[in-house]
Amino acid sequence: MPDHNNDSPEGKPGGHDNRLTYWIGGGIIAAIVLALVAPHIAVHTKLGGELFLRSLRMIVVPLVFTSVMCGVLGMGDIRRLGKPGLTAVVYYLLTTILAVTLGLIVVNVLKPGVGTVAASVVAEHTSENVGSPKGKIISSLASSSGLSKGEVAEVLADLPEGESSSPSVTAIVENMALMLVTDNLVVAAAETELLPIIMFAIIFAGMLTTMGNRVSTLTACIVQINDALLQFVMLLMKIAPLGIFCLVAARFGEAQLAGQFAQEIKQIGWYFGAVIAGLAIHAGLVLPLIYWIVTRKNPYRYMLDLSQALLTAFSTASSSATLPVTMKSVEDAGVSRRSSEFVIPLGATINMDGTALYEAAAVLFIAQVLGLDMTLTQQIIIALTATLAAIGAAGIPEAGLVTMLIVLNAVNLPIEYIGLILSVDWLLDRFRTAVNCWGDAVGAAVVDCTIPNEVPPTATDG
Ligand code: ASP
Repeated sequence: MPDHNNDSPEGKPGGHDNRLTYWIGGGIIAAIVLALVAPHIAVHTKLGGELFLRSLRMIVVPLVFTSVMCGVLGMGDIRRLGKPGLTAVVYYLLTTILAVTLGLIVVNVLKPGVGTVAASVVAEHTSENVGSPKGKIISSLASSSGLSKGEVAEVLADLPEGESSSPSVTAIVENMALMLVTDNLVVAAAETELLPIIMFAIIFAGMLTTMGNRVSTLTACIVQINDALLQFVMLLMKIAPLGIFCLVAARFGEAQLAGQFAQEIKQIGWYFGAVIAGLAIHAGLVLPLIYWIVTRKNPYRYMLDLSQALLTAFSTASSSATLPVTMKSVEDAGVSRRSSEFVIPLGATINMDGTALYEAAAVLFIAQVLGLDMTLTQQIIIALTATLAAIGAAGIPEAGLVTMLIVLNAVNLPIEYIGLILSVDWLLDRFRTAVNCWGDAVGAAVVDCTIPNEVPPTATDG
């Protein structure tokens, strides 16, 4: 791996603050203990958590905008984006396909949906939902996820009513192509739709790189705003232990008060365990192996350096909200800013290994519970649609649960049966979000190896 100078604002490579990581880790443990012992008190921390989450989300749009632009400006010329850009896309696709394959293998081997316990769960969880109109499913999905009914309805709108039939893959791909370009940048920004913002930033910065000295003030201005936003992230990280404590205590406290969690885990524990096993293999073996093959560096050291981002991902269940922290941690770990600046924002939006793995595993689990044997062709359809569904999922809590409807529908499974996995999804979401962020971080390091060492004059370090 080329030995890039770390050009983070404070200019120190490896500026990873261990004490902060301990504080965040301690905060999570304390929050879980409080939620178990005194859930009534724990739920009152909700406001603190929400304030922290909002502060993170507040800087996502401007940060993505300026950082992607800085990433392109750092290349000096848009044409230099070709190789790293291609590497990023190949990496995203390859790791997502590996993840869905792993999800399918784990469920085929462990068969968590086969057996009487699972059958009893069907009766218990879906009796009120089976055969119900979409409205009811929308309400239950919206209440279990952080999404609005409108957002859930948008995904459902593409699915046929009643007996499901496969949506054409072309329709899904067409929808995704449309997601890349917006007709109104302000609306996209207001709705935190990052893909069109990234597209605009790449093209706009690309234009700036062709305009030479005429735009040097504007270029310097963008770089400075980006630096200031990263300082803002550092400030937020100082209050992260408290914010994360509040987020986790409130959510686990709610689950404890609802009183069903232990019972749910007992009933669909095998499913939960299978997904966690798949995520652990992907995050602990597959991605580290790719990292090591490309960079020849210790992947677990890198994982440790990323711990603040991974813990934030676990606590927020949102890769978008974690994005500022992921970028900061990746840079502190020695990856050049030019790489992190465009790989992390794009990755947080389209590279979701954890979500892809989970969607494939969950759909196969539902088929097993229903006693349906999925043929190889059907499993390939699951793999392909889960890949697309993960690319299309936003980096927000439980977005994957909603886009999974596309996968269920593609293999003609009744979407009502999503009720089977609803109860534990909020917790699984946290693990898969951490894997999503870890995948992006590994991607940034991999792409970093393809970027030439010398820094062009218009680079981000101004
Ligand atoms: N919560 C995940 C994320 O933000 C998406 C998902 O629901 O899988 O990365």
